[in-house]
Amino acid sequence: MTSKGSEGAAQYGVIGNPIAHSRSPQIHQAFGAQTRRELTYERILSEPDLFESAVKRFAAGGGKGLNVTVPFKEQAVALAEQVSERARIAGAANTLSLTPNGIKADNTDGIGLVHDISERCRLSLSGAHVVLVGAGGAARGVLQPMLTAGVQSLFIINRTLSRAAQLIELAGDLPIATGRRLQALSFEEADRIIPAIASAPLLVINATAASLSGQRLPLPDDLLANARLSYDMVYSDQPTPFMSQAQEAGCGQVIDGLGMLIQQAAESFAIWHGVRPETESVYRLLRPAS
Ligand code: NDP
Repeated sequence: MTSKGSEGAAQYGVIGNPIAHSRSPQIHQAFGAQTRRELTYERILSEPDLFESAVKRFAAGGGKGLNVTVPFKEQAVALAEQVSERARIAGAANTLSLTPNGIKADNTDGIGLVHDISERCRLSLSGAHVVLVGAGGAARGVLQPMLTAGVQSLFIINRTLSRAAQLIELAGDLPIATGRRLQALSFEEADRIIPAIASAPLLVINATAASLSGQRLPLPDDLLANARLSYDMVYSDQPTPFMSQAQEAGCGQVIDGLGMLIQQAAESFAIWHGVRPETESVYRLLRPAS
């Protein structure tokens, strides 16, 4: 669905490839109705090498802001005249503001995840131990927000260990990382985590794309059984393979990434409109059974 609104309404959209599956139009229109703002929000499919011209065309047509999704988040940083600190650290942007003074890039994915974990899942990240599985763009985007939220330790596990090590190095260079335990591990080394942590809550986040291809992760059951929360960034109305794996291992709380999606959208909305919308009603709209 591409939504076109009434004439004169402020224009927003989400750009990616593929894009037909995106739920962002529904989310932003719900936020607009809630805060009584007239806006349009459309899906824009761009060919991989035409991203920049698609953004500039949207801006020239009066567009005010774009969300950016796979595979353009890195290009979105390169395109912008102003880049927020969290987008620079993430090396990726999901929010572009198209202003008379040029394009501003920001990244709200990580802070969206932090909000969902602390508000809807009711888990305080302050002092928590976090196992982040995956070392791609989504994992990189959560480093700074996680450390800012006060996690005590951050273990990054990735299939390609060198990529996990790179993220740990990046995190270690941030001033907010002082005093935190940061460690890169292979899947084979994951059984070292439980003996290494004390009683503070453990959170396991799946930031890999494995669930999208129907695959489970080679994690020890023990790790998932001891987790207070297992969180899959992938969202799905059915349990993802990671969620099933965590449930079967005995993890108490298992959640998909729909809340993260809604929270990152709320942060983008706040950047563009100066007001942060309420998110719980939108969660219920997208998942009525919740
Ligand atoms: P990337 O392509 O940048 O990274 C993919 C990651 O997944 C890499 O760490 C890769 O490991 C790992 N991986 C892929 N397949 C497997 C597998 N079969 N087993 C183990 N590891 C695997 O993707 P992103 O970081 O951009 O996205 C990751 C996920 O996060 C996606 O599923 C995306 O849908 C989700 N996401 C959700 C958001 C939300 O709002 N809910 C927002 C952003 C992302 P390796 O390095 O070894 O290749």
